[in-house]
Amino acid sequence: MSGPLLLSGRKLAREVRESLAREISASSRRPPGLAVIVVGNDPASAVYVSMKEKACAKAGIESRIIRLPDTVSLEELLNRIRRLNEDDSVDGILCQLPLPPGISPGVVASAILPRKDVDGFHPVNVGKLWRGEEGLFPCTPLGIIALLDRYGIAMDGIDAVVVGRSNIVGKPMAAMLLRRNATVTLAHSHTRDLAGLCSGADLLVSAVGKPGFITPDFVKEGATVVDVGITRTPDGLAGDVDFQSVSAVCGAITPVPGGVGPLTIAFLLENTVKAWRIG
Ligand code: NAP
Repeated sequence: MSGPLLLSGRKLAREVRESLAREISASSRRPPGLAVIVVGNDPASAVYVSMKEKACAKAGIESRIIRLPDTVSLEELLNRIRRLNEDDSVDGILCQLPLPPGISPGVVASAILPRKDVDGFHPVNVGKLWRGEEGLFPCTPLGIIALLDRYGIAMDGIDAVVVGRSNIVGKPMAAMLLRRNATVTLAHSHTRDLAGLCSGADLLVSAVGKPGFITPDFVKEGATVVDVGITRTPDGLAGDVDFQSVSAVCGAITPVPGGVGPLTIAFLLENTVKAWRIG
């Protein structure tokens, strides 16, 4: 037995980033600009922001990090966003999550101009995604769709189950699969007989955040399994999927690390360049 097809997000992310870098360096326009607002001192956020900064520099995108203390008022935060909305050298704006308690991510997302909303969290972009219109959409599910396309995995007419209903991954993932004509079920912690439901799926996307949650009894023979979960454990990063045992059943699978993870930043750059092309 040769094992399942390994879907390498690392490889696709590199291709996307190199292609964007070529496009930017060939352009005579000013480079794209991305503003990242960081509130407080969350250590995981610091790592992600530094990764975004490095990826921008490599692609030729000018990034600007705006650091605010966790005591910042909502009014001051919204003022900063307003100034970035009006700044013509800024194509993309995002506010790194998590935000301190008392600052609603929804209110912050709604303050960013939809055409600069490179995380795709503004209600206008959420609406456009569900309506099947053009817009800026969340980076992680965008990357997953591109990965499935890259490996020739059909979505039209398939049965897809997405486990996890966050605004960042689960819900936009379901909308994107629906746009690609999959029959989509969005599962969550109240879903009954989750293993039974998942085991009928041609495509299983897990965005739960519990290591080892997806075991072979959740997986149909030959199915494609996409593991979005990233949990820090004493042994390193762990996905939701019990990779070893599920690999014996599925037809294709994303590893952790090297699967979905690298795609998120690559598609943040893609969204920034998309906003720059339009702007
Ligand atoms: P989240 O906000 O952490 O929510 C987790 C989801 O899982 C919720 O919808 C929850 O259901 C569901 N869930 C929890 N326990 C469950 C159970 N026993 N059965 C079925 N569903 C269950 O989700 P998230 O922000 O999307 O993050 C999920 C994971 O993806 C995390 O590990 C995160 O680190 C990772 N992630 C990775 C990337 C990447 O770049 N690869 C990007 C974003 C997130 P309820 O809604 O009912 O509570």
